[in-house]
Amino acid sequence: MSEQKIPYKIYLEENEMPKAWYNVRADMKNKPAPLLNPGTHQPMTAGELEAVFCSDLVAQELDNENAYIEIPQEIRDFYKMYRPSPLVRAYCLEKKLDTPAKIYYKFEGNNTSGSHKLNSAIAQAYYAKKQGLKGVTTETGAGQWGTALSMACSYFDLDCKVFMVKVSYEQKPFRREVMRTYGASVTPSPSETTEVGKKILEAHPGTGGSLGCAISEAVEVAVKNPGYRYVLGSVLNQVLLHQSVIGLETKAALDKYNIKPDMIIGCAGGGSNLGGLISPFMGEKLRGEADYRIIAVEPSSCPSFTRGVYAYDFCDTGMVCPLAKMYTLGSDFIPAPNHAGGLRYHGMSPVLSQLYDDGLMEAVSVPQTAVFEAAEQFARVEGILPAPESSHAIRVAIDEAMKCKETGEEKTIVFGLTGTGYFDMVAYEKFHDGKMDDYIPTDEELAAYRAKLPVID
Ligand SMILES: *Cc1c(COP(=O)(O)O)cnc(C)c1O
Repeated sequence: MSEQKIPYKIYLEENEMPKAWYNVRADMKNKPAPLLNPGTHQPMTAGELEAVFCSDLVAQELDNENAYIEIPQEIRDFYKMYRPSPLVRAYCLEKKLDTPAKIYYKFEGNNTSGSHKLNSAIAQAYYAKKQGLKGVTTETGAGQWGTALSMACSYFDLDCKVFMVKVSYEQKPFRREVMRTYGASVTPSPSETTEVGKKILEAHPGTGGSLGCAISEAVEVAVKNPGYRYVLGSVLNQVLLHQSVIGLETKAALDKYNIKPDMIIGCAGGGSNLGGLISPFMGEKLRGEADYRIIAVEPSSCPSFTRGVYAYDFCDTGMVCPLAKMYTLGSDFIPAPNHAGGLRYHGMSPVLSQLYDDGLMEAVSVPQTAVFEAAEQFARVEGILPAPESSHAIRVAIDEAMKCKETGEEKTIVFGLTGTGYFDMVAYEKFHDGKMDDYIPTDEELAAYRAKLPVID
């Protein structure tokens, strides 16, 4: 028997996986505005928040001081199953575009949820279990968050009740079955199972639902059932904290090869993947150690950063959640029915909203046909069929790379490829059949939603 020498380490102890999450709020001069009690308009206390959220997560939500928060070993063990996620140089895309730009993407789609959402789902399920809870409730739109949470709950043996936006429930039966495979119960929202659902159905019979409605229902069920708490897949500070694992790994990998990005691009729905991807880079920027262009990309049919206002607003349609100060289109805003590209939440993470308001990052909006063109271009050369959400970032990465072609600049572009699009083939089909159009809300429409924002003095 020959003695084979293995020239590499089989067990990666020293990879780029972080042992702590990074909390960008610690380095922000202007902290994100606090959540307000919807009744009194006073900042939510930890006690009030703990009626809805798990205690450890409340502590993370309110923590504007600690820059690093240790990732519990149990969560790191789970992360090890699919992390570090690949940071890929898009050589084939560069070649196809004939650009001098260097393009990298951080791919978060290599788990069953098909997106980055598992990074926070596993953390939230862990803290729920640690608190001795029976289960958690949540909403899901396209289904990635519901899937991620179902996976995390089954891992920690927790009950998982998902309210799924009714149109998605009907259009995406496979997503629903994935969640049920992991043991979750899935209810189409709005439903007759909650008071707020009944009210919404009375006011809008036949509605296909919205994220805002589903959030209200999930919160109601969590508050009414002992041993349950509500968990949310984006927008909240705690979710951005968990997602910092994306940025920390990206930075560690780039640092290993001495690569300094010129710009970092990510799609923005509620802001969690982008917030996570940029966090260590933004930290350097905030501390004056480095500078980067940071670009949020949103759909022109749901343009919270580029056409919303920075104001306190409800996070949900039923107005049961705390108020958050954020770039918002108004809590009643629902993108036009033809919108197939995801990223349909009316508001934006308070952390990113503050950073954007302080001029520390940029935002652009892109129409969905241009997004699907970029998706297809990417799929054909890079071997990954991207989620429509992620393809917003691809669109702008390609646009920036093409600008480099004109100027001859060798810029380094990093973008977040948040997930795969296998469950989005109805949207791809619409695009291929020429049935997709770019409905963009008018100023009048947006003004009507804005007029309904709560008045906070
Ligand atoms: C949920 C989701 C998004 C948008 O959510 P953020 O909180 O803005 O990151 C983007 N891409 C994919 C694949 C998603 O599932």
